[in-house]
Amino acid sequence: MHLTDEAQMVREMVRGFAENELRPIAAEIDREERFPQESIDKMRELGLLGITIPEEEGGSGMDTLCYAVTIEELARVCGSTALIVAAHISLACQPIHLFGNPSQKEKYLPPLASGDVVGSYGLSEADAGSDAGATKTTARLDGDEWVVNGAKMWITNALQSRTLIFTARTGGEVEGTRDISSFIVDPAVDGVTVNPIMGKLGVRGSTTCEVVFEDVRIPAEDLLGEPGLGFKQFLTILDGGRISIGAMALGLAQGAYEEALRFTQEREQFGRPISKFQAVAFMLAEMATRIKAARHLVYDAAVRKDAGENIIADSAMAKYYASETAQWVSTKAIQLHGGYGYTKEYPVERMWRDAKLTTIGEGTSEIQLLVISREILNGQ
Ligand SMILES: Cc1cc2nc3c(=O)[nH]c(=O)nc-3n(C[C@H](O)[C@H](O)[C@H](O)COP(=O)(O)OP(=O)(O)OC[C@H]3O[C@@H](n4cnc5c(N)ncnc54)[C@H](O)[C@@H]3O)c2cc1C
Repeated sequence: MHLTDEAQMVREMVRGFAENELRPIAAEIDREERFPQESIDKMRELGLLGITIPEEEGGSGMDTLCYAVTIEELARVCGSTALIVAAHISLACQPIHLFGNPSQKEKYLPPLASGDVVGSYGLSEADAGSDAGATKTTARLDGDEWVVNGAKMWITNALQSRTLIFTARTGGEVEGTRDISSFIVDPAVDGVTVNPIMGKLGVRGSTTCEVVFEDVRIPAEDLLGEPGLGFKQFLTILDGGRISIGAMALGLAQGAYEEALRFTQEREQFGRPISKFQAVAFMLAEMATRIKAARHLVYDAAVRKDAGENIIADSAMAKYYASETAQWVSTKAIQLHGGYGYTKEYPVERMWRDAKLTTIGEGTSEIQLLVISREILNGQ
């Protein structure tokens, strides 16, 4: 699939940035579990943190293909940075862009889209993951304020975030999805506690947090969009978000493949580079083929999204296939490195750990198959 001139230009720009700024620190932020604020500051200057948000709302006004290419190129070098940006744009900027009223957009979008403020999105809870509609967090109207109680789990960027979108029940029901609404809150307000979850397997430069709400008072006007539409909103958000996680998986697969390609041409056994052995060469061929297929799915979903098509199945297919491909490719990349691949001396080990997240976040692979099969069967 040919890229537009704009997407090609974005690829070159982000690749240069990733090579110069991310590659030197990727292993360190993984090892130290350190949020790379310096990379955020540099991406802010490049206008990468509001790439899909229209210029009049403070962003760069680019299309979803440019966004996918951006995430792909970041992930090719550093999965943590790709996740930070994907969560910020797809899960924090987009809900306000799509569902915010004019005053919410005016207040919250420019600082997010410029990158002055990092955004986060709290949907999952300890007992509501794949079944995110089972949320237990509640918001009760008291005068002109909502009073929120509950806890969100696994929230990317929450520790750095000054704008968190989250879902809560506003109707007093204990099940069903029609009383779920979305809210905007600054996690620094009284009653919100952000507890980082340390020791993750991968994407360790990104923060993942529990967010606890204890009698948190939120102004009535910070309910995002219409009450009771939170469930519908997050389904739409995830359809778009899955393209970005697919793009992240694609970049990780590409990065691991390139490492394997280089290593197998340098490493010699039995008096020749191991790439000369057909078993190795065929593994590289299989990697390149699967990556190309994943790239087509991710870019195609991005183009269809911008064309206003129904992308429920397309985005789930892109995310499912690309994430499983990233897992497969990075596993094979370790295999082709032999014992060296099993150490932190080579980046394939980190890429494999980062790739695992893409089969879980924003809906597991099983949930993607559920979504795709429902679309296929309902569409008959
Ligand atoms: C690093 C990281 C970052 C994250 N960032 C965010 C974030 O920013 N915001 C946010 O809201 N959430 C975030 N999440 C949460 C993530 O979206 C959930 O972990 C994911 O949706 C799975 O939910 P769960 O962990 O509760 O697993 P569960 O839902 O308990 O799933 C456990 C297993 O059961 C399977 N399963 C469950 N239901 C079905 C079914 N119906 N059919 C078949 N199999 C099923 C799953 O596929 C999985 O294999 C993040 C998670 C991680 C690990």
